[in-house]
Amino acid sequence: MTSHVSALVVGGGISGLVCAYALRKAGVDAQLIEASPRPGGVINSVTRDGYLLELGPQSFSSTPELSRLCVDLGIADQLLPAPHHAPRYVLIDGQLRPVPLSPPAFFMSSLINGPTKWALLRDIFGKSIPPDDDESVAAFIRRKFSPQLLDRLVGPFVSGIYAGDPERLSVRSSFPQLYEAEKAAGSIVRGMLRLAKAKKSPRERPVLQSFREGNETLVRVLANKLGSALLTETRAADIARQNDSTFDIRLEGRDGAESVSARSLILATPTDVTGKLLSRLDSSFESPFASIDYAAVAVVSLGYRKQDVGHSLNGFGFLVPRSAGLRVLGSVWNSSLFPGRAPEGHALLTSFVGGTTDPVAAELQPNELAALVHREISTLLSMKKDPAFSNVTIWPRALPQYNLGHGNRMSAIAKLCSRFPGLSLTGNYLRGPAIGSCIDQALVVAEQVRNHLAS
Ligand SMILES: Cc1cc2nc3c(=O)[nH]c(=O)nc-3n(C[C@H](O)[C@H](O)[C@H](O)COP(=O)(O)OP(=O)(O)OC[C@H]3O[C@@H](n4cnc5c(N)ncnc54)[C@H](O)[C@@H]3O)c2cc1C
Repeated sequence: MTSHVSALVVGGGISGLVCAYALRKAGVDAQLIEASPRPGGVINSVTRDGYLLELGPQSFSSTPELSRLCVDLGIADQLLPAPHHAPRYVLIDGQLRPVPLSPPAFFMSSLINGPTKWALLRDIFGKSIPPDDDESVAAFIRRKFSPQLLDRLVGPFVSGIYAGDPERLSVRSSFPQLYEAEKAAGSIVRGMLRLAKAKKSPRERPVLQSFREGNETLVRVLANKLGSALLTETRAADIARQNDSTFDIRLEGRDGAESVSARSLILATPTDVTGKLLSRLDSSFESPFASIDYAAVAVVSLGYRKQDVGHSLNGFGFLVPRSAGLRVLGSVWNSSLFPGRAPEGHALLTSFVGGTTDPVAAELQPNELAALVHREISTLLSMKKDPAFSNVTIWPRALPQYNLGHGNRMSAIAKLCSRFPGLSLTGNYLRGPAIGSCIDQALVVAEQVRNHLAS
């Protein structure tokens, strides 16, 4: 039996949920299907033994669209901002040192050597032009600043966002504002200031935040609003284009297989699934999607009695340069950022292991990962006892990598998509992996779909 909808959204992570919600709010008959029993994709908050755990993202940065969405959904009052001045640390020479977060702090910091500070002045007062070829983040930082800046600050920062390798990530695709700033002004600092001034909307400083009951609040409320328009445990197994330009999508669900026909098809699925589905329309889709690498990441949450932790844990957490020789990429001190993350008298710390520079780490057993993290962080934070609690989540395909050539791959995909009016893509491999970027993009796509359906 075939049913009909105006728009079918495939994949109920944050990208698909927001896209389907925006479409329905605009009066479009949209249906969202999600393969797993719960919506939310990698956003997953779980309570265990009195700890509120984030199994995927730990927090998110505000964007104007995200803030508006929270107001619209009636959950703005449940947002919790992280303490604004919480220091972030980086591990240098065996010590956790505060990261300089302002230009004066940068120039005063002993983390950064003289040549790097001179290079920053050269950027402010001089002029450089980015090469025509796609340039890696590492090459970009070495060309503009110094290997030390790459090792001590940029590399750890990059692994905090992408769990990626700066030698392989494309600066143009992964940090487009930096590339655009240099291209427009010959200087990152002047270019960024120019871009900020050119923005018409009032400048809003991004705030790091979560919800009182965890990141999943956003998912839960979106799913509630969608009601029966969201079908879980239902996966898109095949797609075809009909002569009347509609899409025919074969679904496999709890009750067996069925077909849906839709004028608009929005794929909000990871690239392996998207590539496979689209290759049924045109085999040329296969190669650009197959070339997008993912980082595997293990998320290790450990709970300690506060009296067993020598460090004050006053701060956001810390990042680890690869040159430090640890396998932990970084650690977030959840209970220092948001209330209600650990039982009274306890602290919750979440660490990340793996990424593209250590792909085999995510193949370790959960107990091995918990032991490894405790061993590596216990000396840094003066732990006196073993953790009282542990939880390990392994994401074999955690984060898409915007590696060299990503821009060309995206152009090839966009060109192929243009042959199929009514087909749209949204997701974390397109305009940035952050939750805020996924939401911004899903809203743009919903608007395009509305226009297509109105034409
Ligand atoms: C460990 C980790 C830490 C992170 N940390 C942060 C952070 O601190 N801050 C931040 O902003 N972001 C962070 N991110 C990134 C951010 O969470 C993600 O990029 C974002 O949530 C991805 O959302 P999505 O909807 O695009 O994809 P996903 O969440 O991957 O959702 C895709 C959905 O498609 C479904 N699906 C797959 N195949 C099918 C099919 N055939 N039919 C139907 N459905 C299908 C899947 O089940 C899944 O639910 C982190 C991510 C990870 C993994």
